[in-house]
Amino acid sequence: MLLSFKTALIPNNKQQTAFKKACGVARHAYNWSNAYVKEVLELRKHDKSIKVPSAIDLHKKLIAEVKSANEWYYEVNKNVPQKALADLRKAWDRCFKKTSKQPRYKKKGQRDSFYLEQGTKAQPKIPNDGKRVRLPSIGWVRLAEPLPITAVHNCVISRQADKWFIAIKYEIEKPPVADNRPIVGVDIGIKELAVTSNGEVFKNPKAYKRMNKRMKRLQRSVSRKVKGSKNRQLAVEKLSKIHAKITNVRKDAIHKLTNYLAKNHSEIKIEDLSVKAFLKNHKLAGAIADCGMYEFKRQLEYKTEKFSSKLTLVDRMFPSSQICSNCGQHRHKMPLKNRVYVCPECGHIEDRDLNASKNLERWFDGMYIPKCSDLVSQ
Ligand SMILES: [Zn+2]
Repeated sequence: MLLSFKTALIPNNKQQTAFKKACGVARHAYNWSNAYVKEVLELRKHDKSIKVPSAIDLHKKLIAEVKSANEWYYEVNKNVPQKALADLRKAWDRCFKKTSKQPRYKKKGQRDSFYLEQGTKAQPKIPNDGKRVRLPSIGWVRLAEPLPITAVHNCVISRQADKWFIAIKYEIEKPPVADNRPIVGVDIGIKELAVTSNGEVFKNPKAYKRMNKRMKRLQRSVSRKVKGSKNRQLAVEKLSKIHAKITNVRKDAIHKLTNYLAKNHSEIKIEDLSVKAFLKNHKLAGAIADCGMYEFKRQLEYKTEKFSSKLTLVDRMFPSSQICSNCGQHRHKMPLKNRVYVCPECGHIEDRDLNASKNLERWFDGMYIPKCSDLVSQ
């Protein structure tokens, strides 16, 4: 099977400029060819003998007419505009088959991306050494985490807000999984890392809290020291070391958790919270909060693909912590300080996070959601 993998890049300023240029060329080539295809389709209304240009036709025309007039095309890898034309042509094919609408023009800053390739599938020539990847025409760019294979034939670089990502596809044999794996709801805990509807509790790494405290202390100590002083420099070095350690511990814990979830369950249901909503609602200081919901979700996405399981994102308005998981018919206010859910109607008592995860497990689109009563749980 082909598995997709996406991770952040850490480009320097020069590389960021190169990325932006490549996005600009990809967008220009795409929009130019889209306009040209539309023109041809207009002409075809009166004369059916006119052929819709193929990707190759578009490329020839681009080289003859567009590239020579826009010399900034020569500053980026030749695969960038070529792939943009192929993508545009495929988008029109989908439109002709009526599986999608007409391709729209791309706007600057919206889903900016470009494609690169080198070598062949059998002999991929975009190598990485675990820390950096060598992109054609750009050079070695730092990776946020190692790629799963040592070299790739092609990749897509994309931009989200001010962050850059690399996406690759690679072939793996799907690992065997057990039959009849259960469905699981997962609550990203306030106190714990995560609590599942099967009653499993994943604790925040022990070292985490201790190191976090040390880091806060160091941060204060840095800000107290005189700018430019030797002492301050030493404190900054200490701080960045502990920061890196914390990042590793956090990554490790989340990798273990997402691996376990994807491998041992047929379906995983989690709350689809944005980072902002997440921090506001949960006020938690655990590992997932710090690296963001995005990373947790991203890992679950590719791992569920690998282990043939399914990731379901539960509607973010679903009041998972307010509903009684026992009777399901009642919903109560549940202040953050309440650690235990006590149903005033049926008397059910359960740990707050466990109750929430059970509700997540039962969730489906269109599920009956009781009105919130005035009673407060507990
Ligand atoms: Zn109840």
